[in-house]
Amino acid sequence: KKMGRNTAHLYNQNDILSKELQASLEWARTLHQAVADDNLILHFQPIYHIATREIAYYEALVRLELDGKLIMPGEFIPALEREGDMSLLDRQVISKAIYYLAEHSGLNKIAINLSAQGFSDERLIPLLQEKLQQYQIDANRIIFELTESASLTNIAATQKIIEQLSELGCEFSIDDFGTGFSTFTYLKQLPAQSVKIDGSFIVDLANNSVDLALVKAICEVASALNKRTVAEFVENEETLNILADIGVTYAQGYHLCKPQPVEGLF
Ligand code: C2E
Ligand code: MG
Ligand code: MG
Ligand code: MG
Repeated sequence: KKMGRNTAHLYNQNDILSKELQASLEWARTLHQAVADDNLILHFQPIYHIATREIAYYEALVRLELDGKLIMPGEFIPALEREGDMSLLDRQVISKAIYYLAEHSGLNKIAINLSAQGFSDERLIPLLQEKLQQYQIDANRIIFELTESASLTNIAATQKIIEQLSELGCEFSIDDFGTGFSTFTYLKQLPAQSVKIDGSFIVDLANNSVDLALVKAICEVASALNKRTVAEFVENEETLNILADIGVTYAQGYHLCKPQPVEGLF
């Protein structure tokens, strides 16, 4: 109408896309603000030593509280990685996790996920040192989980940061193993103590012979390299038994325990 009478305007794909883009930018801004306001909550999921069925450590999993609702990381992390500040999130998670280690003696050891941004942020090591000192926590109570794709960008830089973290006494684990590229090169070069086999290979393990072959192969390689193995997405007893037969070290999944607030665990 603004263009006057007797004119026609054809809507094209771009008009719709820009609306979508606007909406996603808006969402990213909301998330960024929520992270800046520290509306973050940590849930914890136990990781079990398969042979003894005892809890070996706990993975910290972040949730975002927005208008009274809990938003899961799958919904906000991709947006933050594109438009926000993942490093800020990672730094807040580290501070919180170390606070929890001091507060809850039941939390013997925690695995913390790191994004590519958080991992390569030069503030990482100083922050870690500061918080460990502040709460009098041993660095060997922390395992950092980094995905293959996050460590892929620059192997030399990645190695250096892992060495610094190891010097402090932290452990290191390769997360979602098997879904990235050059898998075995990275396994060979990264000084990680453990390998977390991606849940997509585990979830249907009892029915899928291809997954079974792949998980066996990963375990064989990991054990040749003296690395422990972790299976995520263990959803039934049958899977757990298969993992025990293969010799996988640790298991994590809904069958064993769901992620929950620390108060629910102890
Ligand atoms: P991840 O590190 O691979 O974590 C495992 C995910 O699997 C978690 O999802 C967990 O809740 C879910 N899970 C656990 N057991 C089962 C199961 O039996 N079946 C199935 N289907 N899923 C299971 P969540 O909490 O939604 O986190 C998703 C991803 O977000 C994480 O994958 C991690 O990559 C990222 N993330 C979570 N917290 C943080 C964080 O504090 N910092 C960073 N940088 N990334 C995080
Ligand atoms: Mg993880
Ligand atoms: Mg994982
Ligand atoms: Mg995963």
